[in-house]
Amino acid sequence: MAIRKLIRYPAVSLRSTCKPVDFATVDKKALSEHLNDLRDTLAATPNGAALASNQIIPQGWRVFAVRPRPGGAEDGNRLPEFVINPEYTPSRTVKPLMLDEGCLSVPELTIQIERALRVALTYQDVNGDKHILVVSGLDAQIVQHECEHLDGKLIIDYADKRTQVRVKQEAIKNRKAGK
Ligand SMILES: [Zn+2]
Repeated sequence: MAIRKLIRYPAVSLRSTCKPVDFATVDKKALSEHLNDLRDTLAATPNGAALASNQIIPQGWRVFAVRPRPGGAEDGNRLPEFVINPEYTPSRTVKPLMLDEGCLSVPELTIQIERALRVALTYQDVNGDKHILVVSGLDAQIVQHECEHLDGKLIIDYADKRTQVRVKQEAIKNRKAGK
């Protein structure tokens, strides 16, 4: 187990596209270690609901980890702890909503983003078995946010130009100060 340092904006590796896990060829031990690192780093980080692979390693895999939450799901299914090779489709029957969103890799910014409140998620588990899961509410928001990470997209991309410039300057200053 290892707690990794979080990669933060404006690190260029956050813009990389993560490679899908091919269970026929993957180094299972390396994958398992990486998943444990994601879980341990997330557990050691306050306020994080989930963590994408490229938030802790520069060349990530298409995987993210979810912090287990107490209580029952607000509406239906819960995300598993590890989501491998996720793809999702937003529900057409549930109206999207503007939701407040933050990111462990861009701590300088909280922003409203329009999100689907229900998504159909396909993913593989740690054994490579395929699943389809419909999730709602916070879990649906997590799926959208983390899949964007795995495609190299960040919440700052939703901000207007002026906010982008301000947040980038602030982030560079904070990173130099070791924050
Ligand atoms: Zn994030």
